[in-house]
Amino acid sequence: MLKKKEIEVKICDACNTDNNVVFYTCLICGRRVCYNCKDEGIKYKNGVYFYGGNGFYCRSCVKDNPRDKLLLAYQAILDLRMEATAWNTIFDKKTKEAEAHLEQLRDEK
Ligand SMILES: [Zn+2]
Ligand SMILES: [Zn+2]
Repeated sequence: MLKKKEIEVKICDACNTDNNVVFYTCLICGRRVCYNCKDEGIKYKNGVYFYGGNGFYCRSCVKDNPRDKLLLAYQAILDLRMEATAWNTIFDKKTKEAEAHLEQLRDEK
C-alpha cells in the first residue's frame, strides 16, 4: 500500500535545506540556521571557564542590537574569555622566560 503522510522538517533559513539535525535559533529574530551555516551567526557560551551554552545570534542582529541586555551579558562572558586567553599567553611567555633565565644561571654555576 502506498500512503502519503505529512511530516514536519526543519529547514535552514540560510541554505534552505533540511540536511542537518543540529539547528541554531537567533535569540533576537528567531532565524534558524543549520550546523553548516552556523558561521552566519555567533554562538555564545554561558560561562567563562566552561564549555557549553546556547546563546546564538545572527551577525546582523548582533550589529543592529548593541543594547540588548541578554546579548550584552553573553558578550561580557566572551570578553572575559578573550581576556583570560590573552592573559594566559602573556603569563606563559613570562613563565618560559623566567625558567630559561634560572636555567641559564644554574648552568653558569
Ligand atoms: Zn544551512
Ligand atoms: Zn537574528
